[in-house]
Amino acid sequence: MSILVTGGAGYIGSHMVYALTDAGRDVVVLDNLSTGARGLVSDAARFVEGDAGNVALVTGLIAKHGVETIIHFAGSIVVPDSVADPLAYYANNTVVARSLIEAAVKGGVKNFIFSSTATVYAGESADPLSETLPTGPVSPYGRSKLMTEWMLEDCARAYDFRYVALRYFNVAGADAKGRTGQSSPRATHLIKRASQVALGRVAHLDIFGTDYPTADGTGVRDYIHVSDLVDAHARALDYLREGGPAAVMNCGYGHGASVRDVIASMERVTGRPLPVKEGPRRAGDPPWLVADARKVRDVLGWRPQHDDLDKIVRSAYAWEQRLNSVGHN
Ligand code: UDP
Repeated sequence: MSILVTGGAGYIGSHMVYALTDAGRDVVVLDNLSTGARGLVSDAARFVEGDAGNVALVTGLIAKHGVETIIHFAGSIVVPDSVADPLAYYANNTVVARSLIEAAVKGGVKNFIFSSTATVYAGESADPLSETLPTGPVSPYGRSKLMTEWMLEDCARAYDFRYVALRYFNVAGADAKGRTGQSSPRATHLIKRASQVALGRVAHLDIFGTDYPTADGTGVRDYIHVSDLVDAHARALDYLREGGPAAVMNCGYGHGASVRDVIASMERVTGRPLPVKEGPRRAGDPPWLVADARKVRDVLGWRPQHDDLDKIVRSAYAWEQRLNSVGHN
């Protein structure tokens, strides 16, 4: 019996694969390497280069390796790109997910774990966002993910098939053993950018907006360490195997940090001032995005181990230093 991980050569997927192989699980990674890197994949996993939306390929893998669970990380994640080219996002996210779910149902795979996102929520709220709130994503990216949640919901009703959709908040940090981390050359995420600035690879950090209605005027996010996120997936896997019903859960810590908090944390970690430039808001950024994280704790028994901004920033910075030393991004 094995676990199929799509997007297992990507940032979060590669951490998941290490967690599974460290635990002695039998893992098949399927990744088309469009953004992932082969070198990030655990040697203890089988690697297959290909598309998660290739039904014939996936049904073949299910049969060959006795796949019992699919963890679906593969997809496109850059919000502004999704605005510029929505069809690409509906193809890579929604259409691929439809094919993958079809392969799962055809192949008799009963358990499915899906990477969803906090951007599926409607509106802006300073209060933590609960799973019971209305959805209403504004970007094609968020819509492409929400449509996948809907497909999963319908399929769980219609077939012998169950899923957990995890709505990620702001994921950061890297593997404690330095085996993998955020490697995308085009990364735009705050903690990754701040790490690049701290290493002098980027001249300064732009602060996107200082006039938000937050305590210090900058955007507030719920940053979660990738290792805690991966642990939520591992628990979701056990939950589904034990017969737990289909569920949607937030993955965040339930409290936020501002852009200035992140800058201050980086300065503590490196012991040096971080060059910053205050600028206008980035289009589409809400002031707050903080999880109501009770459900994942209650249902999965999740207990985060890295709920500490300095720890997350230190871990992201350490990975960036490694990338630096080997000349990657
Ligand atoms: N941000 C910033 N400068 C950057 C990148 C991000 O000020 O170079 C801010 C952004 O406006 C938001 C927060 O940092 O308030 C987190 O942004 P990120 O892109 O990391 O994640 P998002 O919440 O957009 O998914």
